[in-house]
Amino acid sequence: MRSLFLLSLLNLIIRVLAAGSKGTDDIIVKGCASYMTLGFSWNFCKKINKKQRVACFCPQSEWLDSVVACIDGLDDDPTNLNFHLKALKAYCKKGNVTTDQISSAQNHVGNLAMLNTSINSYKPRKVTTAFKLPVSQYRWGLNAYSVTQNTTDKATTYGIGMMCFWYGIVLIRSVFHWTRNFFPTLPHKLDNKATRLIRKSICCPPLLTFHHSTPATLGKSSVGTFFTFNLPTRQSAFIVLCYVAINLALLFAGLDIVEYNYNYDSWSAQYSKFLSVRSGWLVVYTLPVMFLFAGRNNFMIHMTGWPLDEFNVFHKWLGRCCFLNLVVHAGTYSYVRIHGGRYNSMWSTPYWQWGIAAIFFAGPMVFLATHWFRKLSYEIFLVIHILCAIGFVVAGYYHLDVLKEDIRVYYAVWAIWAFDRAARLGRVLVASPFSRATVTYHSNGNTLELTINYSKLWKVPPGSYVFVHIVQPTFFWESHPFSMMQGVEEDHKGSIKLFCRGLDGMTKRMIKKCLQNNGSFETYVWLDGPYHQYINTSAFSEAFFIAGGIGITAPFSYVQGHISKGFKDITVHWGIRDTAPLEWFADEISYMLDHGVQLYVHVGDETPIPSSNASFVSQGKEKATMSVLGRVELKQGRMDIMNIVTAAANNASGPLAILTCGPGPVNDLSRQAVVSNLTTSPHYIEYFEESFSW
Ligand SMILES: Cc1cc2nc3c(=O)[nH]c(=O)nc-3n(C[C@H](O)[C@H](O)[C@H](O)COP(=O)(O)OP(=O)(O)OC[C@H]3O[C@@H](n4cnc5c(N)ncnc54)[C@H](O)[C@@H]3O)c2cc1C
Repeated sequence: MRSLFLLSLLNLIIRVLAAGSKGTDDIIVKGCASYMTLGFSWNFCKKINKKQRVACFCPQSEWLDSVVACIDGLDDDPTNLNFHLKALKAYCKKGNVTTDQISSAQNHVGNLAMLNTSINSYKPRKVTTAFKLPVSQYRWGLNAYSVTQNTTDKATTYGIGMMCFWYGIVLIRSVFHWTRNFFPTLPHKLDNKATRLIRKSICCPPLLTFHHSTPATLGKSSVGTFFTFNLPTRQSAFIVLCYVAINLALLFAGLDIVEYNYNYDSWSAQYSKFLSVRSGWLVVYTLPVMFLFAGRNNFMIHMTGWPLDEFNVFHKWLGRCCFLNLVVHAGTYSYVRIHGGRYNSMWSTPYWQWGIAAIFFAGPMVFLATHWFRKLSYEIFLVIHILCAIGFVVAGYYHLDVLKEDIRVYYAVWAIWAFDRAARLGRVLVASPFSRATVTYHSNGNTLELTINYSKLWKVPPGSYVFVHIVQPTFFWESHPFSMMQGVEEDHKGSIKLFCRGLDGMTKRMIKKCLQNNGSFETYVWLDGPYHQYINTSAFSEAFFIAGGIGITAPFSYVQGHISKGFKDITVHWGIRDTAPLEWFADEISYMLDHGVQLYVHVGDETPIPSSNASFVSQGKEKATMSVLGRVELKQGRMDIMNIVTAAANNASGPLAILTCGPGPVNDLSRQAVVSNLTTSPHYIEYFEESFSW
């Protein structure tokens, strides 16, 4: 009864379509034609290709009679027949079939003999004359036709569904983020046993026990580590796990396998083909999200309050899953062709060549993105990654284009990418492409100090960073992120200050240039920034910062913001290896002490504090350092982060915000300490982490 109703509904739709279009959308006609062509082996039209089928089969009266019998069998409403026959004529246009031929086929239907063989193999049944079939077999044929045709539609729907998963996650997170920003006291009010437990076990901890900022290692030995990789937080890992699980489910779920589907020569060929279509569209619909998450100007950073490195985690996993889908796509499709004995011929087809090119570009993108390779040379990784991404998108575009498939998703990808690049350029122009920086090298501490004069069209937001291009002939194209702060010295008010640790790439080249110029040089810089996400911390009664080494730059920027808002209760614990940072950061330390910040400086490990035999660049710095050394309390030995955080949590007078920025172990120890105090602290604690690597 239900199927009868559905069939009538189908007919109605077909009639409308048949009237509106030229009739070729008639699924019954196409289903019958396809079934009679591929489901049976005739004496004619033996060695023809796909494109020649209509022209060859349609004029054959045996075939035409059998198709009309099929249409008649599938639609028991005689008033529909004329619409179907019109549609059949339109379908057979290439075969020059006339109305008379179709009418005579219609007249033959009543006299056709019934073919009584059952469907029990994938092989086409041999026939020599026109025939009729039991209606159940026609229905089966129509079903086989429609599931085969609908594979792409269904795969597209699933691909869009996968994309919506990410938008859903972003939406949920945005609701939380903006509710917290608009009602900053709400999380404190909802602070109870249950929410604390959820935060302690899911939202805040690292995936396992420690590693998040610190890369995990594989194959550690006395000669070094074999492989390093990043582990996400438990919350990110949970989201990633859901994504991978849903991706796998969407890959395999609901593949409409029809037993003995005449379109295929085996069950495995049918399964492989459906899997190949499904995985292909999952790749395509992953692309916009994957490219969006990689961008510096991803608007979702502002929606969710998640930093770029959180989106980087998702970007990497999207890439990995995309690659997995790609391998499934290529593997299953190859199987279908090998099974059909058409593998070698495939290599000369453009769609296959573009497809192979896409995989060729995707491989290095995924494998070289692991921490171990990025650490070898970040710039080389970046260049290879971008070139491969361009190659991957171009190859994917043409792979679909030559197949006449829907390529609109690729336009979205280009648009997202172009927007990001245009926004970067826009930021550089707003900050002024003629911004000037004085770069000073503090050899005692291996640190560069950049004082930058820019357009001043924007003010340095607390906790923000900027990608800096040093406009020098040999490396102006490189851009590196550094935390920004406002200059505190009288003559640098309104300018931007950056402190950069000397490493092996761009910073090394800047140091070289400084050393060639008596420790300092001036240069043009391009500033792609500011980047930051808005966090409303007004409801916290205390701000607590933990910094390690050069990581002081990010907390200091927040401290400046807090001081400018009249925030009183600010504590900073800063762990440094030796007293050298007290020289290059002397003015900023003075600023904090002048504004009542409780600053604790932990110097060295358990060995005595090394004296600083400074090679001061300027007299001003020397004076500032001397005054700082008299005022700041130096504690010998490494920061005991667990004790510091526990004491802060227990002694807090109200909700406490803890922000950490430092080398991997400092961040990971802080996270661990916060997590272990979440359920015991008398007040609500919120943890923020700034990481200098991704
Ligand atoms: C948001 C953010 C803020 C930062 N703020 C500061 C800061 O205030 N002071 C500071 O000294 N450092 C900061 N860093 C780290 C700084 O960006 C790198 O140390 C710097 O880019 C290294 O440059 P290099 O070419 O000399 O290093 P290399 O020796 O070539 O690379 C060393 C490591 O630096 C990282 N790195 C290199 N280039 C980039 C890049 N373009 N983008 C991201 N990471 C990169 C990689 O992890 C690499 O393994 C910050 C990083 C981030 C992500």
